[in-house]
Amino acid sequence: MPKNVLVVDDSAMMRRIVIEQLRACEFDVNVIEAEDGRQGLERFKLGDIACVLSDWNMPTMDGLTMVREMRKLDPHSRVSIVMITTNGNADNIMHALHAGADQHLAKPLTPAHFKAALTAILG
Ligand SMILES: [Mg+2]
Repeated sequence: MPKNVLVVDDSAMMRRIVIEQLRACEFDVNVIEAEDGRQGLERFKLGDIACVLSDWNMPTMDGLTMVREMRKLDPHSRVSIVMITTNGNADNIMHALHAGADQHLAKPLTPAHFKAALTAILG
């Protein structure tokens, strides 16, 4: 059974890049796309998501707010949440982790980093 991965990013091009990386890693996944935090959260509420890969800066609802809302629904952190950001500074990483993200990946994404971060979840 492929695992459902929710890819949340307001940039269609970034979503394509993330999905290509998932394919390149040959994970057995079914990708679900959302264009902003609100859409991502609505899909999350329907359940059966193994992993969320989310952008930080998005209109309507940003990634941090979305992660906080997801963790209210998933207080035992059963779903893995990976935050992808342009700015990998220490403050941002701390914010992401405090909001409830399990991991942080900085752009540009490399296949090696992607595989290292996700193999335990999706491998
Ligand atoms: Mg964005």
